[in-house]
Amino acid sequence: MTPPTIVWFRADLRMSDHAALDDAARRGPVVPLYVLESEGTGTRFPGAASRWWLAGSLEALGRSLAAAGSPLVLRRGEALAVLRAVIAETGARRVVWLRRYDPEGMETDRAVKAALRAEGIEVESFAGNLLCEGLTLKGREGKPIKVFSPFWRAAMAVVRADRPLPAPARLSPPATPPATDDPAAWALRPTTPDWADGMREAWTPGEGAAQDRLLAFLDRRVGGYKAERDLPGTEATSRLSPHLRWGEISPRQILYATRSAAESEPGIATAAEKFLSEVGWREFSWHLLIHNPTLPTAPMNPRFAQFPWADDPAGLRTWTRGRTGYPVVDAGMRELWRTGWMHNRVRMIAASFLVKDLLVPWQTGEAWFWDTLVDADPANNPASWQWVAGCGADAAPYFRIFNPVLQGEKFDPAGTYVRRWNPELSRLPDRWIHRPWEAPAGDLAAAGVRPGETYPRRVVDHSVARDRALAAFQSLKGEARP
Ligand SMILES: Cc1cc2nc3c(=O)[nH]c(=O)nc-3n(C[C@H](O)[C@H](O)[C@H](O)COP(=O)(O)OP(=O)(O)OC[C@H]3O[C@@H](n4cnc5c(N)ncnc54)[C@H](O)[C@@H]3O)c2cc1C
Repeated sequence: MTPPTIVWFRADLRMSDHAALDDAARRGPVVPLYVLESEGTGTRFPGAASRWWLAGSLEALGRSLAAAGSPLVLRRGEALAVLRAVIAETGARRVVWLRRYDPEGMETDRAVKAALRAEGIEVESFAGNLLCEGLTLKGREGKPIKVFSPFWRAAMAVVRADRPLPAPARLSPPATPPATDDPAAWALRPTTPDWADGMREAWTPGEGAAQDRLLAFLDRRVGGYKAERDLPGTEATSRLSPHLRWGEISPRQILYATRSAAESEPGIATAAEKFLSEVGWREFSWHLLIHNPTLPTAPMNPRFAQFPWADDPAGLRTWTRGRTGYPVVDAGMRELWRTGWMHNRVRMIAASFLVKDLLVPWQTGEAWFWDTLVDADPANNPASWQWVAGCGADAAPYFRIFNPVLQGEKFDPAGTYVRRWNPELSRLPDRWIHRPWEAPAGDLAAAGVRPGETYPRRVVDHSVARDRALAAFQSLKGEARP
């Protein structure tokens, strides 16, 4: 009998468009394996909200694999030790996986590949988590591209919208199925207290839900994406980010389905390309991380290492709890706390508020998002924080400081979003909804708002904070200045 192949799943928790699973299924028995790599080994350990997602995603994948014939094996530990144990238990002679691109993960994979090959095991890795493996995308001078538009043009010139691989219909199990951990012992879900109610209401992890979400988006919303994607009060974006983060859907599946939808309905083609270019930002973030392994901790623009950040734990607490007194910032932070997700426009506003109005280091905000986002992504999260802070690639210049009132009035003019997440302000007239501190006493009383009691007063005055931020920025010497 052919010895089994181990398919090592990581952030690619799907059966379709999975080249490694496809390869294994064609050869003989398959051992699907997920390793919860010990903290400090492999990829950055997921935060609390992501662990909640991971629990659901593993369950969904486990159900699909079992239905196809070979159940998922769960193990915890250091990857090489786990793989050696599963090889010994099953007699596997081949290990396959889809490549990952974070520096720690790549280092682990190189070491695992070398060690297993030295022990006579065949090891093969496949592409599948990015449209273009960023390593190959170089600019004219042969250096990695640092600006999004030329990056995406170069990517689009080489990427083909090939038909994705189908999921294998049948998997044959190994003759000696290995033991599997009880996932409850991993404690991925919160118990005391169980704070995941809002996430359960908002999301269904898993490949099936990801495909449903993509189809619903292409069916009903993609046509309005370009015009409405910045309006947090409207459900205009795909909300595919946690599914993409965990690889429940591949970018190739998104590209193929989106292009196919646009071919059959040319009226949506422009909006569809806009949507795909946002998926391109994900590619760009990974490209940045590959070329800048310290992206999560160190500013890409080294001048920012000298930035005079403030030590403001009280300010930080108002931000994490959604109590800054700026309604759009608070709405975003509360949406994040409840659902594990925040609209992109509001992520930009809330992040800018932390970094520029409160002068809290972007790394602190990145860490909070890492713990609270269901889509917390090793590349997108630090790249986006650096972008907002003005120290990243192709970043918003530091001196362009978001005004949370004007941003709110522009993108949530009737306060639909702000009222949803700050119900204590829900009866304020539109005119004051983004600036309650300017509302006349009569309007406040009629709306039941008591500043400092039912809704917090502003933690800072934005115009004063803006000047402080600009002064801090001016103190930097050299290239970081406008
Ligand atoms: C401070 C900050 C932190 C962020 N942290 C994360 C993170 O940890 N994980 C994450 O996936 N996204 C992050 N983003 C990017 C973006 O906010 C989310 O990807 C987006 O809101 C997800 O919603 P959606 O799936 O409906 O997006 P859609 O608009 O439907 O876009 C489709 C997909 O494209 C990708 N995408 C869209 N916008 C961006 C972007 N600006 N940068 C990178 N990829 C993008 C995502 O994978 C997304 O699912 C962050 C943005 C900011 C400003």
